[in-house]
Amino acid sequence: MTKRAGPAGRFGPRYGMTLRKKISEIEQVQRKRHVCPKCGMKALVRVSTGIWQCKKCGTKVAGPAYLPPSKEV
Ligand SMILES: [Zn+2]
Repeated sequence: MTKRAGPAGRFGPRYGMTLRKKISEIEQVQRKRHVCPKCGMKALVRVSTGIWQCKKCGTKVAGPAYLPPSKEV
């Protein structure tokens, strides 16, 4: 078990505070739900790196690793 220092603690000290802050921001975006490109519901969640799934219609979409393929509304 490694010591954690905040949400980006798993990256250790090697990236510096600025980048870790950026990573935390990105992870917050990841955790939010996004708009499904198919049904338009805000139900798209990241299931794994680059894969997003709509909880409403079940559509799976491949997208960029850290951001969904659709833009937020
Ligand atoms: Zn959908």
